[in-house]
Amino acid sequence: MEPADDQPASITPSRLSTIRRRKSADNKFGTCAPGGQCELHFEAAIFDLDGVITKTAAVHSMAWKRMFDDYLQIRAARHHEPFNEFAHAPDYLAYVDGRPRYDGVEAFLKSRGINLPLGTPEDLPGGETVCGLGNRKNALFNQIIEREGVSLFDSTIALIRELRQRRIKVGLATSSNNSAVILDKTGTTHFFATVVDGIEAAKLRLKGKPEPDIFATATANLGVPSARAIVVEDAASGVQAGARGGFALVIGVARENNARELRDHGADVVVRDLAETSLEQIDRLVQAKRASV
Ligand SMILES: [Mg+2]
Repeated sequence: MEPADDQPASITPSRLSTIRRRKSADNKFGTCAPGGQCELHFEAAIFDLDGVITKTAAVHSMAWKRMFDDYLQIRAARHHEPFNEFAHAPDYLAYVDGRPRYDGVEAFLKSRGINLPLGTPEDLPGGETVCGLGNRKNALFNQIIEREGVSLFDSTIALIRELRQRRIKVGLATSSNNSAVILDKTGTTHFFATVVDGIEAAKLRLKGKPEPDIFATATANLGVPSARAIVVEDAASGVQAGARGGFALVIGVARENNARELRDHGADVVVRDLAETSLEQIDRLVQAKRASV
């Protein structure tokens, strides 16, 4: 964990040390069994999928680029305009990363002054509607993972195993419509006591990230108040959702050298990989944040 990132800005080291010493007789959390582990100060952890658990963020980025570049080239030829490619930082990270698929299509097109009809989820992949373009991106994504497989971030899996051993409920909240396939392919389905993905969100008419609805639904499914759950996210829209939802702690995972952006959007703490932190450190940060509000 980077020194500048290891504590929320409003919590000083001296205050944190006071909190560590404080004993709360009427608090059922944080008690320690004689000679055993202490109970943690939160009851659930909600993880994002792409870029936090699986190394699929790059595959999404690649699929979005192929789909949008093909479409932008067609438009450029049609309108006799120069082709301006879909770029990673100014386009993917700003408009698409972490958002529901069709919201991402709409947000990027709007940034280029392009207005297309929404269409319907049944539109053929590549049809000139928001849904048609989103469906083509999904088809490209599935082709790539079918061909190349999906790999996991070992540090995230290690943390999830440890959380489960410590009886913390673990949930998944992702905008992805492909979560069942990805979890099945990686043998990780059994880790999650609840999964709220893009399909479930559409069924329940939940607002996508940056709104907190899917995280809040995951914690509700686990029977845990949001204030007793931590969120782990790698996208700006995702940490924003966590911040808006009043969670016990929002951990931003800066895979893209975007630590500042994640902090600016509401992450309480930012790491480049979860191997940089530990469950005990996370628990101390939960305590510190709770004491600071
Ligand atoms: Mg993500």
